[in-house]
Amino acid sequence: MSSQLCLLCVHGHPDDETFHAGGALARYAAEGVRILVVTGTRGELGQIVDPALNTPANRADVGALRMAELDRALARLGQIEHRWLGYRDSGMLGSGENENRESFCQADVGEAVGRLVRIIREVKPQVLITHNEVGGDGHPDHVRAALVTRLAFDRAGDPDAYANQLFGPDAVVTWVPDKLYESVVQYGRLEKLRRLVRDGGVVRAVPLLLRAARAWQPSHERERSRVAATQGVTTARVDVRPWLAARDRALREFRSQMAPDNVLFAFTPGQRARITPTEDFSLRSARLSPQAPEDDLFAGLRVPSAP
Ligand SMILES: [Zn+2]
Repeated sequence: MSSQLCLLCVHGHPDDETFHAGGALARYAAEGVRILVVTGTRGELGQIVDPALNTPANRADVGALRMAELDRALARLGQIEHRWLGYRDSGMLGSGENENRESFCQADVGEAVGRLVRIIREVKPQVLITHNEVGGDGHPDHVRAALVTRLAFDRAGDPDAYANQLFGPDAVVTWVPDKLYESVVQYGRLEKLRRLVRDGGVVRAVPLLLRAARAWQPSHERERSRVAATQGVTTARVDVRPWLAARDRALREFRSQMAPDNVLFAFTPGQRARITPTEDFSLRSARLSPQAPEDDLFAGLRVPSAP
């Protein structure tokens, strides 16, 4: 067992890691865990929602803009490294961009898995986090990131898989990660949100919230049934209350995707702690028999301190 704990997050675009696991990243970074965030794409097809950033120069290279945002956001969460897997944003499901040959969703799966296997063999993470099988919201890059991560988790320890990586000047060694988690979409929290709005507990941006709450109602039920049918049950709840402020500061760095008037930023710290006290994950694969429910992604992997 490596003496340093390491967490590897694999997501489709810059901001997914903060949105789904920003509190956990801040918590583990503060503990001294080595963290590497891998994005499949640079998110270059994201729309710039903040008018102040919607300039010709930014529109010409949205990927660079979003990677710079990722840099700043991760610095808000702690000491976190990041890498790009090298693919192009595939665009929203059903868009013509899905067919672009350089897109993540058109890329050869075996090759993409090989790139991630090399990273796993190099940084030796015990724990991996990715999207759930349906990609949370079904974005093709999320679905692809989840698939590639599942396969890489299984193959990184196999000496017959990508054996060419094990020889030569850039040789790495096989590595068997211990646990693979998928983020759980927490639809129950929308109920809490609606209750806060209904009870008048949200003092800022109320018209915005009312609009958002009404908009969420129908899609909420559709999404709940679609995702509930496929996502795993929650097996780990990580208390992130002390890290919500850091997560909020990190989210605010993604201004191209979340303008300052985004509904996410309308809550007081106390309200945020009531809505999102934990970030939840579902254990997809494990080399050890975990004791569910867990409150720590590294449960069972920590070396006991000397008496
Ligand atoms: Zn995304």
